[in-house]
Amino acid sequence: MPVSGVVHGDDFVKLTWFGGTALRAYVGGRIVVIDPGHNGANAAHPDTINALVDAGFGDTKPCNTTGTSTNGGYTEHEFNWGVATKLQSLLQARGFDVRMTRSNDEGVGPCVNKRAAFGNDANAAAVVSIHGDGDDATARGFYVMTAQRAPAGAAMAAQSETLARTMRDALVSAGLSPSNHLGSGGLWQRGDLAGLNLSVRPTVMIEMGNMRNSSDAALMSSSSGQQQMAQGLADGVGAYLGAG
Ligand code: ZN
Repeated sequence: MPVSGVVHGDDFVKLTWFGGTALRAYVGGRIVVIDPGHNGANAAHPDTINALVDAGFGDTKPCNTTGTSTNGGYTEHEFNWGVATKLQSLLQARGFDVRMTRSNDEGVGPCVNKRAAFGNDANAAAVVSIHGDGDDATARGFYVMTAQRAPAGAAMAAQSETLARTMRDALVSAGLSPSNHLGSGGLWQRGDLAGLNLSVRPTVMIEMGNMRNSSDAALMSSSSGQQQMAQGLADGVGAYLGAG
């Protein structure tokens, strides 16, 4: 059997054959944090999710929200969870150390400030927050959001912008369309999102599509559509971290 090594930037994955046993060694494996927006029990716990928390830059915001849904009642939290778990599998297969801000789709929260702290504390190489929008019925397509106010300085903001453009390009390559309504070319800087304003790591928040648009809703409600989205996201993370 061949001895093979693959160098992914400074993330080194090596496959070596020792007497019939393949060993896979991770050296300097990079941490990717996936943040599936909202959670399944949020709607049943309004007191918890409506409590105000730090939102950065002196602002406060509710701990969390219920998220939106399709007109058919397929919820955003379930969509986010579906894409996130598919993305997790794809990134783990590429050798990344993947951490999720929530471990199931039946819980409450975590609050937006805790989600941001999760990525910060993990010293994540990239943070990808996954959402679905609830926009006008004619709007469709995805958009990638970054923090307008550079919470960790200009250099880190530039990294987030690079991550955003790389994710946008990968989603387009995966066959998805940038929003025809919000942002510009699938990119949008926002000043009001706690998850972005509290992050000190390269971070994007992505509205994968509009759940109130019939075409997007059909795609977002299907396992194949979620897989297509996860593939684009995985390709984007891989390209950004030099392991594409
Ligand atoms: Zn959302």
